[in-house]
Formats: sequence, C-alpha cells, structure tokens
Amino acid sequence: MRIAVFSTKPYDQRFLEAANQRLADQSGPAAAHEIMFYETRLSAESVALAFGIPAVCIFVNDEIDAATLSMLSAGETKLVALRCAGFNNVDVRRAAQFGVKVARVPVYSPHAVAEHTIGLILALDRKLHRAYARVREGNLALDGLLGFDLHGKTVGVIGTGRIGAIVAQILLGFGCRVLCSDDIQNAELAANGAEYVDGETLLAQADVITLHCPLTPATHHLINAERLAKTKPGVMLINTSRGALIDASAAIDALKSGQLGFLGLDVYEEEADLFYRDLSSQVIQDDVFSRLLTFPNVLITGHQAFFTDEAMTAIAETTLANVTAFARGEALGANEVTLAMLAT
Ligand code: NAD
Repeated sequence: MRIAVFSTKPYDQRFLEAANQRLADQSGPAAAHEIMFYETRLSAESVALAFGIPAVCIFVNDEIDAATLSMLSAGETKLVALRCAGFNNVDVRRAAQFGVKVARVPVYSPHAVAEHTIGLILALDRKLHRAYARVREGNLALDGLLGFDLHGKTVGVIGTGRIGAIVAQILLGFGCRVLCSDDIQNAELAANGAEYVDGETLLAQADVITLHCPLTPATHHLINAERLAKTKPGVMLINTSRGALIDASAAIDALKSGQLGFLGLDVYEEEADLFYRDLSSQVIQDDVFSRLLTFPNVLITGHQAFFTDEAMTAIAETTLANVTAFARGEALGANEVTLAMLAT
C-alpha cells in the first residue's frame, strides 16, 4: 500500500525502510509498502501532499483535526497510522465520521520510557547535568551538588499502565515507598509492595511525583497551581507522558517559590513548535519554555524517552503491520484507536 509518512527524520526513514525490507525478505517484494517520506508535519497546510494516498503515517506533533481529516477523506485517505502510543493529536470522533481508521502502536518499549524517567529522577537528584558541565570546565568542587538518597523516599506514580508500572517496579527496587494513583489497580505491583492511594494522599506524601497517565480532557493541567500547593515543599515532579498534563506557568511560579524543588520534563505543552529541530542558532520565542531553561533545578529533554533502538524497531514493524492488516481488510485489533477508548 502507498503510505505518506509525515514528520520524518532520517532515523524514522532508516527504521521504516529496514522494517519494509524485512517484509519483502520474509514474504516477497509484494509484501513491502510504497513509502513516501515527508519532513513536514501533517496539518491542514500540508495535507495536499497526501492527496490520493490511502494511508498516512504520523507522529506526536502532527495535527489531525477536523480540517485535516476533511481533506484527507476528500483525497481518499482511509488510514491514519500513528507511530506512537498517544493519540491526543487526532480528532478520533471526526475520523470515525469521515470513515478514516486510526491505528497506533500501543506497546513498543515501555522500558525505554520508564528507564528515561528514572534517568531524569537520578540526574536531577544528583545534579548530573550540572556536574557534567562543571567538570568539563575543570571545576571539580562539590558545592551545589548535594543530592539525596532515593532509597527510603516516597515516590508517587500517577498512572500505573504499561510505563508507570515499570517505573514503580524499578523504584521498589531502589527501596522507595511507592504510592500509586490509578482507577485500574495492578495487582502484581500491589503484591510487590506498592500502595494504591487517592490523589490527595499521593500529592501530600510524595517526595517525587512522576506522571504516566494519558492526556485527555480530564487530565489536562492535572498538575496546576492548586495541586502544586498541596505537595510537599521541594517536591520533584517528572513528566515523560504528555506536556499538557502540567500547567507550565504554574510550575514556574512553584519553582520560584521553592514549592517545586526539581522539575524533569521530556514533554512540553507547546512542544509542537520547538521539539525535533535544531534551534540553537535562533531566538526561542516561547517565553515560558525559555524561562524553564533558566532554572538550575529543571532538566528538559526533547521528547526522546521512547528513542531507543529496540523501541524504534518495534514502532516501525508494528506501524507497517498495521498498514498491512488494513490493506488486507483485516481487523486492526488492539492497535485500532476506537471511539470507546475516548471515554477511558
Ligand atoms: P497505558 O494506557 O498503558 O497506561 C495509562 C494509565 O493511566 C492507565 O492505567 C489509566 O487507567 C491511567 N490513568 C488515566 N487517567 C488517570 C488519572 N487521571 N490518574 C491516574 N491514572 C490515570 O499508557 P502507557 O503506555 O503507560 O503510556 C502512558 C503515557 O506515556 C501515554 O499516554 C503517552 O502519552 C506517554 N508516552 C510518552 C512517550 C515519550 O517518549 N515521552 C512514549 C510513549 C508514551
């Protein structure tokens, strides 16, 4: 099937072409797809590139809103294949109305994201980002680098699905007290010592809070000024889920007052205009983001938590498998984004 791939970086092309070649090697040349790669994001402005192409493949910052869907549908596109798990950037209701199916990669490597989360916690705690820069300049003094033992601390995990459960399990291994908040309880985690508590208790008792729930209307700005005021003073907040879970302006106020002691972000609400490009020679226009970069106790990575060899291989293979199933008229199974999923 012909696929127009948007938001392509050289690494996306490399992993998708390798997965496509494996399809051809395993099942013959006809099993491979005809893939067109576009660097631009898919939005109403760029959708003409997909005209007449049955499948588009998108990533986290493409905008599949009503206008884009209307034009995709007019151009006979029938499948939106996300090469990620989150689908908050797709208007799933409109897609259903236009008869456009939406597929995603619900699981590729939850370990990749969980391990990056732990990396942010440890780097912020032990100030590795600052130590790295200092040592390179010949400054081997320790002032300002004092950390704390993670062992014995209370960590709050909000959302214990695939990624949150692994984060919680790793933290149990560190000897942390792990408090979890999720309507769906993971019995194995609880058996291993994690405690399910209500959101208020988690906010009040955690030394570190890490977010692993999806972005939905209900979780938009889940961490706002009101909730930050209920945390322990000096709490560490980590978000490797979706940017809009945190009200970044409220986080800045809390950082300035000291209520928020550390902030680790892999995602940012307005990341679509910033991430996945080299802006080092430009003036960043986003004042909230620029302010965040000035704090010594803030560590930001550019939505890279998923970015491991294992995850990229799995994403490419599942994405092409979704297109193959669709082309054959087969059910997309658990990889299909359905209207029912919007309610959860
Ligand atoms: P998942 O669906 O397996 O788990 C999400 C969990 O959150 C579910 O158990 C759900 O019940 C729970 N939840 C929903 N609303 C909640 C709330 N208000 N409070 C507490 N829990 C709530 O998802 P996952 O695979 O673990 O992924 C989690 C999120 O991580 C994704 O939605 C995605 O946005 C993000 N993600 C980020 C990256 C990255 O590179 N940074 C990569 C993959 C996924």
